[in-house]
Amino acid sequence: MRVPAFTPVLALPFLVAACTADDLPGEERGVPPVLTSEQAFDEFTYARPTEARVTHVALDLDLDFEGRRVEGTATLDVEAAEDATEIVLDSNGLIIGGISDGNGNALDYTIGEADGEKGEPITVTLGELTGPALQQVVVTYASGPDAEALQWLDPEQTAGGEYPYVFSQGQAILNRTWIPTQDSPGIRQTWEARITAPKPLTVVMSGISRGEPEDVGENRRAFEFAMENSVPPYLIALAAGNIDFAELGPRSGVWAEPEVLDAAAAELVDTEAMIDAAEDIYGPYRWGRYDMIVLPPSFPYGGMENPVMTFLTPTFIAGDRSNTGLVAHELAHSWSGNLVTYSSWRDGWLNEGVTSYFESRITEAVFGEKRAAQEYALSYDSLAEAVAENGADNPNTAMRTPEGISPFDTVGEAIYDKGTVFLRTMEAIIGRERFDEFMRGWFDRHAFQPATSEMFLAELRDQVVDGDEDLEQALMLDEWVYGTGLPENAVAPDPQAFAEVDNAAAAYGEDGSLPSAETWGGWTGAEQQRFLRELPETMTADQLAALDAQLGLSDTGNNEVLFLWLQAALRNQYQPAVPQAETFLADVGRNKFVAPLFQALWDTGSWGQPIARRIYRETRPGYHSMTRGNVDEIVGWEG
Ligand SMILES: [Zn+2]
Repeated sequence: MRVPAFTPVLALPFLVAACTADDLPGEERGVPPVLTSEQAFDEFTYARPTEARVTHVALDLDLDFEGRRVEGTATLDVEAAEDATEIVLDSNGLIIGGISDGNGNALDYTIGEADGEKGEPITVTLGELTGPALQQVVVTYASGPDAEALQWLDPEQTAGGEYPYVFSQGQAILNRTWIPTQDSPGIRQTWEARITAPKPLTVVMSGISRGEPEDVGENRRAFEFAMENSVPPYLIALAAGNIDFAELGPRSGVWAEPEVLDAAAAELVDTEAMIDAAEDIYGPYRWGRYDMIVLPPSFPYGGMENPVMTFLTPTFIAGDRSNTGLVAHELAHSWSGNLVTYSSWRDGWLNEGVTSYFESRITEAVFGEKRAAQEYALSYDSLAEAVAENGADNPNTAMRTPEGISPFDTVGEAIYDKGTVFLRTMEAIIGRERFDEFMRGWFDRHAFQPATSEMFLAELRDQVVDGDEDLEQALMLDEWVYGTGLPENAVAPDPQAFAEVDNAAAAYGEDGSLPSAETWGGWTGAEQQRFLRELPETMTADQLAALDAQLGLSDTGNNEVLFLWLQAALRNQYQPAVPQAETFLADVGRNKFVAPLFQALWDTGSWGQPIARRIYRETRPGYHSMTRGNVDEIVGWEG
């Protein structure tokens, strides 16, 4: 995922005792065993997977747009230890109609106390075990009224304006609001689904589509999907709306509403080249197809790496492919995150740090070294800033997240940026060829399995360091992964990466001289953003007007650039920008843009606060619950 800039804070206590035991039956359906080391332990699940675990989920669900819920059954294949008498599932607000075994015999169950975002446990008493300790549990259920993983959109919230839309966002621990399973990244499961939706809506999922949709009565169709590779359950995702498909290459394509499909396909023409580049670096793409769906603008993230179906915000469409680093990022997750996944949320860097590094390698291969060097400089700078702000000994600057931190509240710079700088540093010390060989082996050895920091370091020591004490000292591995701050061996960014832009920004700061429109137009998206980030905090209305006139900021097609312009304008109480900010905030729900713009308005006090309240009253219903949660806090929303 591309992390939002603002995330709500909610720390949870340590609740479940660690599991020990290697008494699970053998691997069924290619599902790997759960890891039982201390580092692999996930404190955000109620499941006790070494006693009884889900290996496969079969969903049979109706999408009920009027009731804004999903309804049907989940049939779970369960592997249980000889002496296990119950299985514990995760739920958050699910409405359970009944639970039975695979033969229809009712099973006893209890629903425990709810505990914040962790939800509540469902403890099911297992019936007589049949066969090799494998049996089925069938849960008849509906999602609750505020299922946070699901966003139901009214027709007005879509590009077409005619049909409703729904999409899910499971990461981190939201899928338990619509799927009763063991919702933990280390408990990998295969899955299949049959989903019905009213005509003419099309359903897509993060699995391979099985055949053409079938009519169900007069007004509905059923769509079937399967994922035969085991995945962490947060990667089960669906979207349904009035969407069409455009092919991009032999194994890639894009779904979007007809109104945005052409623009989306044009923006994504580099997709096959990116897949080829990624395979050259870390080996085969193992998921079959790589499709994407461009969602309505209320999608709160930049992208989400759902397997075979990356979810994307439409705000990445700039008309000039300048924001397609987002696609490189989500594609990279097909190796780091989806193929090899952290077992516990505390190892976020194994997904996001490795992905950000891999993203920069794909960018380098497809778009050249300059763009990659610029992205590295941005990562390095944001890490250095976060360390300066938080203090070098702040535990939140450690790559392995401290205990008890909610997976929604991890520090992006410590995971994404520090992970990138760590791996770039390893590459520089070890040598690219040798480091690539190690990383490729890492993905091969742990394909479709969970992993931990401990495993990564042990293998790096075993295969690369190999007793070389000088190398061990030079790498500073433990300091990187477990320590705080920025280790002293970090590779600094190329000082030339933004030299031209930084000189232009300095000149503007000194005497107000602006780059020519031609110079500005020749800059990459990253360069334009760098310039805008370096604008003085305080600017007059005349200065802002001149800036806009010269650079055409309010006419830009690049939402990243437009956002930075609006942010500068609002924090300086620039009235002429308010109508455009209002339109932008009504059209776009991406948290990374929305929360900081409300913050900029709010921070001005008596000028911006009434404007923020007025706009938010109108735009709030269209936002995803996550975006809403953040803005509620900024403006002190009380309904
Ligand atoms: Zn990501």
